[in-house]
Amino acid sequence: MTTTQPVIVAGAGPAGSLLALYLAQHDIPVILLEKEDSLPIDLRASTFHPPSLEMLDKLGVTEKLIAKGLVVDKYQYRDRRTGEVAEFDMSIIADETAFPFRLQLEQYEMTIIVGEMLKDYPHVQVRFGCKVVDSSQTDDLVSVDIETPAGKETLTTPFLIGCDGASSNVRKSAGIGYGGFTYDEKFLVVSTDFPFEQVFDNLSYVNYVSDPEEWCVILRTEKKWRVLWPTTSDITDETYLSDDYIQARLQHLYAKDGEYDIGHRTLYNVHQRVSEIYYNGRIVLAGDSCHINNPLGGMGMNGGLHDADNLAEKLVAIINDGADHIEKFKHYDRQRRELAVKFVQEHTISNKKLMESTETEVQIARQKMLMETAADPIKSKAFVMERAMLNCVRDSLAVE
Ligand SMILES: Cc1cc2nc3c(=O)[nH]c(=O)nc-3n(C[C@H](O)[C@H](O)[C@H](O)COP(=O)(O)OP(=O)(O)OC[C@H]3O[C@@H](n4cnc5c(N)ncnc54)[C@H](O)[C@@H]3O)c2cc1C
Repeated sequence: MTTTQPVIVAGAGPAGSLLALYLAQHDIPVILLEKEDSLPIDLRASTFHPPSLEMLDKLGVTEKLIAKGLVVDKYQYRDRRTGEVAEFDMSIIADETAFPFRLQLEQYEMTIIVGEMLKDYPHVQVRFGCKVVDSSQTDDLVSVDIETPAGKETLTTPFLIGCDGASSNVRKSAGIGYGGFTYDEKFLVVSTDFPFEQVFDNLSYVNYVSDPEEWCVILRTEKKWRVLWPTTSDITDETYLSDDYIQARLQHLYAKDGEYDIGHRTLYNVHQRVSEIYYNGRIVLAGDSCHINNPLGGMGMNGGLHDADNLAEKLVAIINDGADHIEKFKHYDRQRRELAVKFVQEHTISNKKLMESTETEVQIARQKMLMETAADPIKSKAFVMERAMLNCVRDSLAVE
């Protein structure tokens, strides 16, 4: 066990949870601060890509995730106009990874599993109801102001890690800007028990669907089917979230007798933002606190897990082996911000552009490209490697 003061991790989402467990398993004391009274259970990301499963496997998490989730080794791009289906089979990358599939599982299932595992480490404190409100630092220490159920408190730590999501107080207190843009449209996500697999021919569990009027994503989580549509700003949020509107949209997707049962419904803003740097002195950012993107391709949460794995390895080298923290954080910034995030931003923006055109010629050309790619083993493997985020993680690790 190192004798250092605990590292403080703000936020027990996917990134903060992975980071805390990694440090715990390397004998580094950690305080994980979560502003909510318990782990948030909301329906957000639901796809774990192969590199994330590899990283979580090192910590003993992946087998627990697989036991709960849905292993999906095929995904499809469907054109409703022509009925054509371009199918990508992830077994084509079985020689590249031990996990040649997407694991469909709600992100909160991962944080619950990790939360249980953290209880085995006496040098880890998980403190709920503790919100980081501010921080300041000297050359040696960071002071962290928190609000707790018992009142205000100030903690000190050698390193403060901001995994506190897109509105990160850690980022703001470190004076780090968060540039980018917000799309005009929001995304509407609805879940249902309706068995789409029984009414659409050969439906895989992940589908990107183009349509003359609207595109959508249909995917299965371990619990329900989920459908995501873009929205426009000429209709109010209340209308988008109303039963009538959602029923009509689902009926357009598949006209059935009677009403759909509707599980959860969420309407959320979509952003493309990256912070201008990933660290300031002894304060470092990971996950949504330093990058957010649209959910097409499921790269946001996964990118945050990849940050956390990369940063945790560097913190171990700093704390256990005496490496220089500024050099390590500069390296983290080069690997994760300059390269990996550039990839994620470009891919998610291009994924959205690929889906959203309603022009017939563009849709035909897009489906033709996808059909040709899927039919060619070399092109198909390259396509799957990119979408599985394997290339971006490997390329980022190669950055000196
Ligand atoms: C509504 C919504 C829907 C989404 N849907 C999808 C989707 O369908 N597909 C997809 O790929 N991605 C989706 N995402 C994105 C995905 O959920 C995120 O990329 C992922 O959760 C990022 O993980 P994180 O650990 O960085 O941050 P978060 O998961 O945001 O975790 C941050 C944690 O920090 C806590 N916290 C916040 N502020 C403080 C503070 N000051 N002090 C202490 N704790 C704090 C929060 O309570 C939370 O537990 C969605 C995001 C949102 C907001």
